Amino acid sequence: VKRSKGTGKTEAYQTQAFDIAREQFGMETALRRAIERGQMRLTYQPICDLATGRLVSFESLARWRDEAGIEYSPNDFIPVAEESGLIVPLGRWAIQEAAATLAQWDARMGGDCGVKLAVNLSAIQLQRDAIAPVVQSALAAYGLDGSRFTLELTESALVTDPDRMAGIMHALKALGTTIAMDDFGTGYSNLAYLQKLPIDILKIDRSFVTGMLADRDKIAIVRAILSLAQALGMKTTAEGIETNELSQTLAALGCTYGQGYLYARPLEAEAAYAMLESLRN
Ligand code: C2E
Ligand code: MG
Ligand code: MG
Ligand code: MG
Repeated sequence: VKRSKGTGKTEAYQTQAFDIAREQFGMETALRRAIERGQMRLTYQPICDLATGRLVSFESLARWRDEAGIEYSPNDFIPVAEESGLIVPLGRWAIQEAAATLAQWDARMGGDCGVKLAVNLSAIQLQRDAIAPVVQSALAAYGLDGSRFTLELTESALVTDPDRMAGIMHALKALGTTIAMDDFGTGYSNLAYLQKLPIDILKIDRSFVTGMLADRDKIAIVRAILSLAQALGMKTTAEGIETNELSQTLAALGCTYGQGYLYARPLEAEAAYAMLESLRN
């Protein structure tokens, strides 16, 4: 807190900072309890092949509803989990839960259910946990091939320790998983990393997709990402597709996959399975 003599501002700032700290501490305590008590859940949002419309995977997205029935956004609780270190148990749980769900879908379908599951990995989680062994043991525990998982990483993971991150990514690739760079274009990392790292998919951030049809700059950015990916032999996923027009335009521009409310919002596990079953054959 900076001193500002005689204005009374210092006190106001201190009070505000204290409130934020207390609120975060309250959320941290509740989140810790929720993780311990198994009150977190995953929802699953479809990702489709834009050229064929085929469902290819689901992205798993963490959800938390507290005892009072309040649903918190991951945009709020993931940062708290990261600051408190809870991202380690939460992240391990998410990997386990995704593997368990996929194995259950396979069992119910009487074989490979035909989709991959994407799991988000936070940069902090990658710093603090030995992620490749965690992924490997979850796959092994449920008898799943590594090719059934996509791992979504963000550029921020590359900023602090690029060499360590490269090692982790190669270890994840060695398990047979697909690696996607999430929120691509919003980070501050050096583009040179793209040619050195085993990246399979660039996920174009929703902020470039939303409203892109009426915005020359956004279209230019999306085109640039698509041609960069193409040149480097990577696939692309556009997030935040909410209209048919966007879906068609992105398909025409050569984007590989699409995700967004047009296809479906994140679904509860049972609803995701029902979608899989209805698409069977
Ligand atoms: P993300 O990984 O970029 O996930 C995509 C987000 O965009 C999701 O928000 C999804 O619900 C939302 N979305 C998808 N299509 C549309 C659309 O058409 N319109 C709009 N308005 N939104 C759309 P969500 O589920 O709230 O998650 C927010 C972020 O929280 C995620 O962004 C991810 O960074 C983080 N997150 C969620 N679950 C996990 C998790 O299990 N682990 C980690 N580390 N992070 C997670
Ligand atoms: Mg993601
Ligand atoms: Mg994303
Ligand atoms: Mg995002």
